[in-house]
Amino acid sequence: MKKVLAILLAVALIATLSISAVITASAGNDPTLVVSTETATKGATKDITISMVNNPGVASLKLSLTFPSDLTLNSVAYNAGLGGQSQAPAKLTSPVTLNWFNGGANTNGDMVYATLNFTVSNEATEGDKAIEISYKQDNVYNIDEEDVVFGITNGKITVVGCLHEHTTQVPAVPSTCKTKGHGAYTKCDDCGAIIEGSDAELDLADHTPGAATKENVVDATCAVAGSYTEVIKCTVCGETISSETKEIKATGNHTAGDWKSDSGAHWKECTVCKQVIGESESHDFEEKILEEATTEKEGKKANVCKVCGYVDEESIVTIPKLVSYDVEQTAGKTEENEAVYDADDAKAVAFTAKFAKDKLTAVKVNGQVVDPANYDVAADDQGNAVVTFKEDYLKTLGNGDYTVAITTDDGVAQTTLTVKNNAAAATTDTANGGSPVTGDNNIALLIALLLAVMAVSVGAGFVYRRRKEND
Ligand SMILES: [Zn+2]
Ligand SMILES: [Zn+2]
Ligand SMILES: [Zn+2]
Ligand SMILES: [Zn+2]
Repeated sequence: MKKVLAILLAVALIATLSISAVITASAGNDPTLVVSTETATKGATKDITISMVNNPGVASLKLSLTFPSDLTLNSVAYNAGLGGQSQAPAKLTSPVTLNWFNGGANTNGDMVYATLNFTVSNEATEGDKAIEISYKQDNVYNIDEEDVVFGITNGKITVVGCLHEHTTQVPAVPSTCKTKGHGAYTKCDDCGAIIEGSDAELDLADHTPGAATKENVVDATCAVAGSYTEVIKCTVCGETISSETKEIKATGNHTAGDWKSDSGAHWKECTVCKQVIGESESHDFEEKILEEATTEKEGKKANVCKVCGYVDEESIVTIPKLVSYDVEQTAGKTEENEAVYDADDAKAVAFTAKFAKDKLTAVKVNGQVVDPANYDVAADDQGNAVVTFKEDYLKTLGNGDYTVAITTDDGVAQTTLTVKNNAAAATTDTANGGSPVTGDNNIALLIALLLAVMAVSVGAGFVYRRRKEND
């Protein structure tokens, strides 16, 4: 039982040592045989070295070399610095045996063991072509015939299509909104490959928005909203970045038209949009004469809205014809039954209307109501109304004919008053009398003057004859 345990322990110890040997072989300062690595194109010839690194001192080193058929081994040159003797390989096809030994002393120090000259086949595929060495422990020992253990780092020739020996640096080109740019990169002039960086297109840059402009403007009216398109374009490429329809609010500035009405109310509408402006209001009626009654025809009166003028048809009432009362001039000059005021004579003018004094309601000259301060009213012995115009008033009337109306509630006494020789007021409108009905005053004055001259001449002749007769 003890024996079995001892064997197991020995196996475990060996296993542990083996693992540690593998670990130390890969460490940086262990004895190692290193095969170099090269890159080559098809058809190229390259030297590959086998070197001793961290050499502990060795007197014999016999290796087996293998490589693929893409490589042709042209020659093997042992390093003369090794000392001792080397044996040229019997053949140069893989596997190849390399053999060196030194019977006198250890060879110490790191150095190249041998240089191998390879040519890459023109038909070689691209990729790594492994160049590997191995040895049997019996063939590697020192001058004391003790085993020397070297770790192995195998090499290779990497076959490439191009060595990229001629290159061009292409600087970065930034993107704009119109063109895609790229980063900086290095390109092989021989094969066109990108060695460094990337010529991949970058994304387009953002547009540069300009000021917003208005297009398709439809102006708003008082009631209807308008609209426009707000457009923002790129200042670099002119492309439309955004296009948005926006509203222009209705102005609300309505234009009021004439009054509109129905039987109950009045309102105004906008002449543009026909919308009712504000609120409709009830009529505010007052009685109004639509047509004045005259002595010839009936008149009309009705309820009429003070605001809009709406006439309430149902309220229309007929006003009876006016009674025509006789009138005569009872003071002042009378010529051919016409009433005359002669300024030269400077006498008051009075009219007697043939109705009771108390029925008098107003005195009008040319349709205008005369201020009662401008006339006196009295009754004659039959009780008829006698209207006497004051001279101060008459003097304000220019020469010409005037219609005088003395009214009652049911009628009128109407006549004509002629004003003459009133040069002072001839061309001026009077306060209450209005302008003359007719009258070419200058001609009238001329005729009057002529008649006066003739009368004086006739009178003078008559006096002269009477004196002669008396003599
Ligand atoms: Zn290239
Ligand atoms: Zn742009
Ligand atoms: Zn409107
Ligand atoms: Zn009204």
